[in-house]
Amino acid sequence: MDQSKIDALRDQSVFPQSHLIDGKHVPASDGAAMDVLSPLDGRMLTTVAKGTVADMEAAIASARAAFDDRRWAGQPPAARKKILMKWADLIEANALELAVLGVRDNGTEIGMAIKAEPGSAAGTIRYYAEALDKVYGEIAPTQGDVLGLIHKEPVGVVGAIIPWNFPLMIGAWKLGPALAMGNSVVLKPAETASLSLMRMVELAQEAGLPPGALNAVTGEGAVVGEAMGLSMDVDVLVFTGSGGTGRRLMEYAARSNMKRVYLELGGKSPNIIFADAPDLDEAAKVAAHGIFRNAGQVCVAGSRLLVEASIHDDFVAQVAKVAQGMRVGDPLSLKTAIGAVNSETQLRQNLGFVDTATNEGGQVRMGGSRILQETGGYFMEPTIITGVTPEATIAQKEVFGPVLGVSAFDTDDDAIRIANSTVYGLAGAVWTSNLSRAHRMVRGVRTGVMHVNTYGGADGTVPLGGVGQSGNGHDKSLHALEKYINLKTAWIKL
Ligand code: ADP
Repeated sequence: MDQSKIDALRDQSVFPQSHLIDGKHVPASDGAAMDVLSPLDGRMLTTVAKGTVADMEAAIASARAAFDDRRWAGQPPAARKKILMKWADLIEANALELAVLGVRDNGTEIGMAIKAEPGSAAGTIRYYAEALDKVYGEIAPTQGDVLGLIHKEPVGVVGAIIPWNFPLMIGAWKLGPALAMGNSVVLKPAETASLSLMRMVELAQEAGLPPGALNAVTGEGAVVGEAMGLSMDVDVLVFTGSGGTGRRLMEYAARSNMKRVYLELGGKSPNIIFADAPDLDEAAKVAAHGIFRNAGQVCVAGSRLLVEASIHDDFVAQVAKVAQGMRVGDPLSLKTAIGAVNSETQLRQNLGFVDTATNEGGQVRMGGSRILQETGGYFMEPTIITGVTPEATIAQKEVFGPVLGVSAFDTDDDAIRIANSTVYGLAGAVWTSNLSRAHRMVRGVRTGVMHVNTYGGADGTVPLGGVGQSGNGHDKSLHALEKYINLKTAWIKL
């Protein structure tokens, strides 16, 4: 990747954004707009439409009409596949523009954004485009004068609420399988990361997705997100974000049409280091990257480091050394390892967690403060806190920032007990050369994804989903399709 190409895009003016409903750009029904502040310098980047309840209802009505007249679901699989493939190609062709626009909006370091955002989104859309004509119904083992058929049908209108940390990647995790199965979708991007996702939706229209099959409404979660949650005409709600919002979405569903709700929520994922790890230097490097990349704003971040007591001090020193070498700063520089915190509110929240951790007996081993840059913006030092007890707030609550809590353990059982002592269960890792121990830890840790001698990087062929209060349902892999289909039985007397 060439820095000069990135620099050429870094100051490009960004037009005010409107909703995309029924294939058309439309402003908010009352004309209201929200300022978009860039986390790179705190300055205004552009505005996006501040959606109203009426806007969301119009988007849902358009998606419903598109579903009912089968302008998308009714196309032959090969035709739908062609359009989704073209969409993936357009995302790839516009990858750098999408990545830079996204970084200016959400602060992720560009090196990571290029791969994790347009790169991954295009791959995901292509994966589900490839899959869509390989999903067959079933014939039940019926005999004699009856025949049982099991049809797999699209569910109808899918509502997708997307967070700000990886809008394109996570957006594609929902849009790919939902559209592949023939559903219509209404999308609600996050307030602080709408821009690249809205552009990706535009590209879907350019690829030939019929109007209404994919609508997108920007605005506040508490207004347009709530309207989506309470709608009588949304059949499935898919969400990635905080536990608090996830809880509300389940309430909205219960208060309205009991729509299916699939949640991918937070985590407090344990990264467990045994003294017999095959390569402790590699483990330290991956541990630092596993919490500090994207300033810790990663749902599967390894935010709890559990280290066998005999190597605790040396290992923490090694992680700190790696972290010191990770450059924090301009997210649009390819040399940057840790970009900006997404918003001032988030930064303040992160610093509050550090204060609480020290009040509860933790020691700040490294970092702990805001970094003031000449350009302004929201930057935080990679922070390591040792002496964290399993009950401490920093061990129990998701920070969603560059803050690593470290605890020592003595035995395998100890490690499993501490690992399982939160309400979450999203990801985790164990580092050991002992095969039996590795398998025991994979079995013992209550989580959706467990890594062995690595962290992160699981590709699109495997499911991602939480247990406990990390959520339900799965993104990625063929399992994700299950969220977007209904099984219908046809019982036929012959
Ligand atoms: P985070 O803390 O990561 O911002 P949120 O859960 O607040 O997580 O946000 C994730 C997404 O949920 C965003 O798109 C946001 O607009 C949306 N959201 C926030 N509050 C609500 C709500 N009450 N109803 C529906 N969506 C909401």
